[in-house]
Parts: sequence; structure tokens; C-alpha cells
Amino acid sequence: MVPSSRSAIRIALAQEHGAPSSAPSKKPSEFFGADVFSMAVMRERLPRPVFARLRQAAREGRCLHEGDADIVASAMKDWAIEHGATHYTHWFQPMTGCTAEKHDAFLTPVVNAEGVTAVIHEFSGTLLIKGEPDASSFPSGGLRSTFEARGYTAWDPTSPAFLLENSRGKTLYIPSVFLSYTGESLDRKTPLLRSLQAVSTQALRILRLFGNTTATRVHAMVGAEQEYFLIDRRYYNLRNDLVLAGRTVFGARPGKGQELEDHYFGAITRRVIDFMAEVEERMLALGIPVRTRHNEVAPGQFELAPMFEPANIATDHNMLTMEILRMVAEKHGLACLLHEKPFAGVNGSGKHNNWSLCDSEGNNLLDPGSTPMNNAQFLVFLAAVLRAVHTSAKALRLGTVGAGNDHRLGANEAPPAILSVFLGEQLTSVIEGIASEKPCGSKESSWRAGMMEVGVSTLPPLPKDIADRNRTSPFAFTGNKFEFRAVGSSQSIAPANIALNAAMACALDDIATELEAALSNGKPMVLAVQEVLACMFRTHLPVVFNGNGYADEWQEQAAQRGLPNLKDSVTAIAAYTDPEVMDVFLRHGVLTERELLARQDILLENYIRALHIETKLTAEMGRSCLLPVAMRWQKTLGEMALAARTLCPEEDKGALPEETYYHLVRTHVIGLVRGLDALDACHARLDAMNGVLARAKAARDELKPRMDECRKHADALEILVDDAEWPLPKYTELLWQC
Ligand code: ADP
Ligand code: MG
Repeated sequence: MVPSSRSAIRIALAQEHGAPSSAPSKKPSEFFGADVFSMAVMRERLPRPVFARLRQAAREGRCLHEGDADIVASAMKDWAIEHGATHYTHWFQPMTGCTAEKHDAFLTPVVNAEGVTAVIHEFSGTLLIKGEPDASSFPSGGLRSTFEARGYTAWDPTSPAFLLENSRGKTLYIPSVFLSYTGESLDRKTPLLRSLQAVSTQALRILRLFGNTTATRVHAMVGAEQEYFLIDRRYYNLRNDLVLAGRTVFGARPGKGQELEDHYFGAITRRVIDFMAEVEERMLALGIPVRTRHNEVAPGQFELAPMFEPANIATDHNMLTMEILRMVAEKHGLACLLHEKPFAGVNGSGKHNNWSLCDSEGNNLLDPGSTPMNNAQFLVFLAAVLRAVHTSAKALRLGTVGAGNDHRLGANEAPPAILSVFLGEQLTSVIEGIASEKPCGSKESSWRAGMMEVGVSTLPPLPKDIADRNRTSPFAFTGNKFEFRAVGSSQSIAPANIALNAAMACALDDIATELEAALSNGKPMVLAVQEVLACMFRTHLPVVFNGNGYADEWQEQAAQRGLPNLKDSVTAIAAYTDPEVMDVFLRHGVLTERELLARQDILLENYIRALHIETKLTAEMGRSCLLPVAMRWQKTLGEMALAARTLCPEEDKGALPEETYYHLVRTHVIGLVRGLDALDACHARLDAMNGVLARAKAARDELKPRMDECRKHADALEILVDDAEWPLPKYTELLWQC
């Protein structure tokens, strides 16, 4: 018998000591990538010329030609079946924010006059390259009407296929793009691949100017740190808000929150470490190079981080990681919450998107390097980053929109919605010096008396640990990479990286064009670079901010500097159609105009849906779950107050505490009833409204404050009503029980 009430779960938890988990019999190095149809496996199983062409196609982000596809498909099928697979699926990332899959068996029926007489294992190149799910229910923002509902999935050979297990067998997952009948992108992967191509092309132009003739491609590299909460699944199942919306719409603050900061980097409990270990085993088998695990700031909050990888693979791997976290949690009797703000009053969760550019020869282009020319090239890439963030801030902000993330950004626990760049004092003084075309002073004179002549002198050694000196910046330079910290924990990192790569492609394009013009006018390279850098740094210094991003003064200062502050998702999404934002995506073909407009629509719809679900949950739980209990308690208190007045001696009959208590509860019961009525009325009004932007604005401005009003009364009642009667697990139980 599974205990289901709060008190039964509490008793059960106190008695449980957790079964010891069996350790894996193999070392990680022995099972790393075991479930991946990797390049190494392909090299082994494919004819040499086919493998060479496949690798080339993967490098250049192209499709395979049909003859090769048949051979690859057959090898992939054989490998998968040998490893226990029964089905395959094109695995894609529609605009829902989740992944999507539709499984087909590897079986082909043998049919004759008597019907199906046998089945054979078959998988052709055509099936590998193109799937055709009935895709009418995926959001398309008007790119596809239901009568032409066909969407196509196509294997993305830059990301390897892999196996996922269920209790009866395995399925082969084939990472895919998702396109409409007319070839428009309906997913997040297609524009990501296009953005990677764009940034590579423009970065190569710069490398060529610096005399590099050998690099063939520049890759954006990404390492995504993932935060999450874990709670006991029995409590989770008792809360519809957590099950359906991923966050609590009610819940009074616990007696103890995160104020002691004793959870951050604290000892990891047995139950959690068992969970983490299994998550890591599964990740490693799927070739996801997970390395780091620790307790985060809030109670019940944790983080994991893999090693960085090429951005498209890192994106797929992060989607997979979130899936693994959810699945393994369930197995361990836990629920993994990926929402940006599951609990009011304690920190929410984010995702730090660590990003850099690396050429095909393995050189990190954001690493200052050791020679003057390396330094000059680094400064050019640095200038491009500043230009990208400064001029494309609104486009970058779009990479972080979502109803959940609105609870975090700017709420003194996550960077503000203003995009600025943290460089640290030393690097800032270098670029200030270049901007003023004068030698600049450095506090630490570890390098020649502050002289920085581009292409002639070398940069001072930059401290690698500057990351930890500023946790409030949304975009921080951390030694040899940038950390974009505004992405939400539940979000795909694709939108952030699409915007980042697209913005970088534009900035690099501008800089390369200027340098090329100067060189063709006969200017020596060193001088051309010095001049372009001076101009770039002067123009874009306002985006550099090394101070406290949480401080109120920063909001004012940022406004004076002309930095946009798109405080909430609706405002940010509305800016999608600003010409300067559209240009970021249009210029190098990352998105077409039709795709852009469709995306704006989809993002607004997603926002509205999220708020409608929360509204309905608030109304439902408020009326059917909380009010009955609160009203019964009010009745009990009323009876107590009446008895007190009857029994109390005459001289004590002033203000009776029983009566005060009763009136307090009654006030909040009435407040909650009225709040819920107002919420319902508002919801009905919004449903009847036209125009997606108008509805999204109304959801933000009307539904949210009314939900907050309901919550205020419900949370007050939680503290006043008999604990034995309260129907929902409380924050203390949710946050401090694993
Ligand atoms: P922290 O941010 O805690 O200082 P690290 O700097 O070690 O930790 O790394 C955080 C994340 O950044 C990891 O996922 C790591 O792989 C990634 N990372 C490290 N170097 C790079 C790089 N050059 N490009 C992209 N990501 C990187
Ligand atoms: Mg970090």
C-alpha cells in the first residue's frame, strides 16, 4: 500500500534508509559512447570511400547522396539490431520546446496472396534521410495549414544516432531537422545549423586576413551547465501544479529557506548521489561527457555540467540530458523539476551557456594566446563579441524568452534582462586604452608599463578565475570563453546559440569588410587592425559593465547608455519584428522573413498557453482543494469563538483571541473567493480577445497579478489552517526531504 497523505509520506520517509545502489561493473572509459553510432563505429563498419564522403558531409553540414545513404542506413540498422533495437525514430526539436519522436519498427512485412507471411528487418537510405510524420499538430505559426500538414524530418549527419532503452528493448534515435512541405524550418535545429555555417564563414574571413590559410571551418563550442530541483515523487504526485505546470502556484515560504547558504556545495545525500551516479552512467553511455555535479544554492537544487562540445551536438545532448534527468528521477522515486522557478522565495534554475569559437585545427579563437599577432587576432574576435552583444542585444534576449524565465531574469538571483558584457578590470583597461588610441594603464604591471600596441606587444596574462568574481553579469568573459547566463533551465539552448552565432556572424562580417577595405587601400595589416579596433572599442564600450548587475543603479545607468531592457518575454518577443532584430537573422539566411514572423507568433502563443494553464490550475486547486479545507477550518474556529464567548467570564469579554483568529481566517477565505472569481472573469475576457500580441500582453498584465492576489490569500491560509488538514505538501516537505 503506497502511503498517499502528507502525514503518511512523512512517516514513511522517516523510516526509509534507501537501498544501496549497485555500482556499475565497468569503468566510464569502457562504456563511454557505447550506445552511439559514432564516427568510430561508422569508420569500422562503412566502406572507406562512403565513410570519407559521410565525414565530409557532416563537416560541411550537408546531406548524404542517396547511394551512400542506403549503405549508411543498412550499417546503422545492423548495428542497432545487434544492440537490441526493435524500432527507429527521427528525433527532432519542434517549436514546442520539447523533443518529438514517432517510432517505427525495423520490420517490413512480406506480403503475398495469403496475406503477410513473414517480416524482415529492413531500413533503406530513403527512410534514413527522410521521414514524414503527420505533423499537423506541431506549432508552425501559420507556415503550414492543416490541409498541407506534411512535415519532413531529415537526418542531420552532424549529430550521431544513438540508442535509448526501454524495458522491452531499444529504439534507434536519429537526430533530425524538421521542415515544412515548402522547405521552411519548423524546428530549432535547422536555424542552429544555418547559424553555425554563417559564423564559420565570417570567422574564416578574419582568419584569412591574419594569414591563416589552413583552417577549413570555425566551430562554435558550447558547454551547458544545467540546474534542477529534486523532490520526493510522492509529494510531487499530490500537487497538480507541479505535475501540470512544473511549478507551485501556491505555497507559503518555509521556516528555513536558503538563508544559511548551507546547501550550496554541501554534502550530497545518499539518495541524491545514487540518482546522480545513474544519470551520469546513462549520459556517458550516450557519449555525453558529463563531468561536474554539486548542490546548488537553494535547498533541493543541484547542478551538472558536461565538457564543451560543438554547439549542435551540445544542444542535442542538453535536450537528452533533461530527458535522462526526468526518467532516472522517476526510477528513484524522485521528480526532477526543470522549471525556472518551481518555488517562490528560493532561487530558481538557469542554464549557463558557455560559448567559444574554435577553428578546425583546434585553436580557441577566444584564447588571448602568447604572441603579439595572436593577441591582435583575439582582440578582433573580442571586438566582434562586444559588437554582437551591443548591436544585437534584442536578438540575443530572444534566446531566453519564456513564461518560466520571466520569474528569474532581473529578480536578484539571475542576471537582469539588460545585456551587458563582463570583461574584468584588466581586459577592460586594455580595450579602453586602445579605444582612446593611447597606451592604457594597468593596475597590475605584470606587462610592460601598460603599453598595448596591437600586433606589437602581448597582452598581460589574464586571470582565468575572473568568472567567479562576478556572478551577476548575463554575459561574462571567463578567460577563454563567454558565459551567457540568461538561459532558463527548462529551455533548449538552441535559440540562445542561434541568436549568438547569427549576431557574431554579422559583427565579424562588418569587421572583415572594414579590414578588407583598409588592406585593399594599401594599409598595412597591423595599422588596419589598430584602427578598426580603436573604432570598435570606442563604439561598443558602453556594453561593457563590470559592476553589480543586481543593483538598481545599474538599471538607470544602462538606460543612460542606451542599452535595451526588455524586462519580460512579451516585450522581448514583440521586438522580434524590429528591423534591426530581423536583420540579425535575415542577413546570413539564418531565418527567412516568413520563418521569423511564424516564430514570433509561436512564442507568443506558447507564452499565453503557459499562463492559461497556470490560471486554470490556480482556479481549480483554489476552489476544489484549498477552499473546502479553509472553510471547514473557518467553521470550526467560528464554533470555538462562539463557545469562548459563551463560556468566558464577563470581565474577560473584550477582544477574544478565538474571535480574532476566526476573523483573520475569514478575511483570507473571502479574499481567496473574490480573487478566484476575478481570475475566472479575466480568463473568460482574454479568451474572447483577438490578436496574439494583445492576448499575450493581457495575460502578462491581467492574469499574472490576479494569480498573485489569489496566492497571497491561499499562502496566508496555509499558515493559519490546522497542519493535519492542509491538503497540499508544503515547501518544507518539498524542499528538505531528499
Ligand atoms: P566554471 O564555470 O564553474 O568556472 P568551467 O569553466 O570549468 O567551470 O566550465 C564550465 C563549462 O564551460 C563546462 O561545461 C566547460 O566544459 C565549459 N567550457 C570550458 N571551456 C570552454 C570553451 N572554450 N568553450 C565553451 N565551453 C567551455
Ligand atoms: Mg560557470
